[in-house]
Amino acid sequence: MQRALTDLSNDAIDALVSECGGKPFQARQVLHWLWKHGADSFEQMRNVPTALRAALAREHVVRHATINKVDDAEDGTQKLLLRLRDNETVECVIIPDEERTTLCISTQVGCPVACVFCASGMFGVRRNLTAGEIAEQVLLAQSQLRPNRRLTNLVVMGMGEPMLNLDGLLPALARIHDADGIGMGARRITVSTSGFPRQMERFAAADPSYNLAVSLHAGDDELRKRLVPTATSPVRDIIAAAHRYFGQKGREVTYEVVLLEGVNDRPDDAVSLVNALGSLPCTVNLIPWNPVEEIVAQKGLRRPSVVRIDSFADSLRGGGLKVTVRRQRGADRSAACGQLRLRALDAASS
Ligand code: SF4
Repeated sequence: MQRALTDLSNDAIDALVSECGGKPFQARQVLHWLWKHGADSFEQMRNVPTALRAALAREHVVRHATINKVDDAEDGTQKLLLRLRDNETVECVIIPDEERTTLCISTQVGCPVACVFCASGMFGVRRNLTAGEIAEQVLLAQSQLRPNRRLTNLVVMGMGEPMLNLDGLLPALARIHDADGIGMGARRITVSTSGFPRQMERFAAADPSYNLAVSLHAGDDELRKRLVPTATSPVRDIIAAAHRYFGQKGREVTYEVVLLEGVNDRPDDAVSLVNALGSLPCTVNLIPWNPVEEIVAQKGLRRPSVVRIDSFADSLRGGGLKVTVRRQRGADRSAACGQLRLRALDAASS
């Protein structure tokens, strides 16, 4: 299979252009077309000589992915199903909110973590995305933005566990962040993990100060193991790694808690979280679960009522924690992570 330019570092593109007989300034032009103009074919690179374009096209394509389907929700959320060159599919979601437009991207096809409430984890992981496939989600989303909108923030919270694909993620973020790439500030980029302390150390060693979010879901090990069965590190080790990240990068850590009625939204669950996080500099983001039909049917999980959510948030605040509650977005169309892909898999197998 031909490689995509999006999988190459800037230095590799310099070398490729030179091998094809081009000059360094033409490598800059190719990079500009790729990342600034979002060109998806060599033909679009109009100021690059035809012979050089033809030489580049002999062993390379520009991108891997195409948009297979766009689901528009009434609140403006747009969910994109992307088809990769081996016919696998992944999702990314554009979430407009007043002045801000956030894109949520995926790092793996499926996910090995198997959180009990998540559609992406239902069938395990099929493969890691390449750096190009991760970065291309930003380019494809940009092509779908409504007039006068631009992407202001990026969250790596879609399908997959980012810490289990650092070889794809770190170069992808470099291309998204780099001034010669897409040029998005590191502080506008948040990476969310379900908690892999060793990999979090490696992520911390990467240069720019990305934001870190940790999907904690529970403050005690036993309950956490029920919710995130494959992430076996103790809660205290995960929190310690996150706070070393804070110490190194000076970026406050966000802890996410997907709230499930009667499972992790009880008064004792709030006490466990307060005990685990204590007086650490952090924010707890409560995410009321977005029900997934298949998971409701199999496991009987439920989204808590507004009263229960408010009471849980108040208990955390009473324990000294800073708390935000995420409001539901895109509720009318396959809103939960992995749901659009689940529908596509269903359709393909029926
Ligand atoms: S919530 Fe995230 S980590 Fe858990 S299974 Fe889904 S995609 Fe994987």
